[in-house]
Amino acid sequence: MPTHVLIIEDEPAIAETLIYAFKEAGISTTHKLLGGEALPALAQNAIDFVILDVGLPDMTGFDVCKKIRETSQIPILFLTARNHEIDRIVGLEIGADDYVTKPFSPREVVARVKAILRRTEPQTNKKSNTFMVDETANRIQYRGQHLELTRYEFLLLKTLVNQPQRVYSRDQLMDIVWANAENTLERTVDAHIKTLRAKLRCVDAASEAIVTHRGMGYSLQA
Ligand code: CA
Repeated sequence: MPTHVLIIEDEPAIAETLIYAFKEAGISTTHKLLGGEALPALAQNAIDFVILDVGLPDMTGFDVCKKIRETSQIPILFLTARNHEIDRIVGLEIGADDYVTKPFSPREVVARVKAILRRTEPQTNKKSNTFMVDETANRIQYRGQHLELTRYEFLLLKTLVNQPQRVYSRDQLMDIVWANAENTLERTVDAHIKTLRAKLRCVDAASEAIVTHRGMGYSLQA
């Protein structure tokens, strides 16, 4: 999934070096100059990460962070001009994920952002990075989008997602998914795999999440 970073920084030269470094890394950015622009920008764009200068003209980065944290757990990295322990502690205590002190290497910031994104990927279901199974609502998200699944598609995909890379034979899937159904045929499994794949490809046209193992069965790609 493409990453989009919101940069709140009032010094254009600093923002530009960051925007350039992110672009080099294939990451797109939105840049705002004021703390007050952070929440509207978050509401209007699909943002994955916030880089927040502490010293902004209209309010402090700390206050912006607190406001964001009222509604969102999006990762936040502070840019601070002051190399004081107190800033670091305050920043991390109010919910930031990391900080860098100016002057900094833009590449280092990019590397830190990537590391934090890896660490903070949705963890509801740690077994898979791209699927999230909501057991209580019987729903599955694929890359952040809810899939419209039938009961058997849900059970089938949930089974695969819960043990990525495990190859299930059609018989095993019939036992697990169609446990109480009569007259299930192997081609029933195939037909449901086919419709599931079509639904995954609505989210990602290149999706190859479900792997066919010829003569063996199916698995979910790790
Ligand atoms: Ca500043």
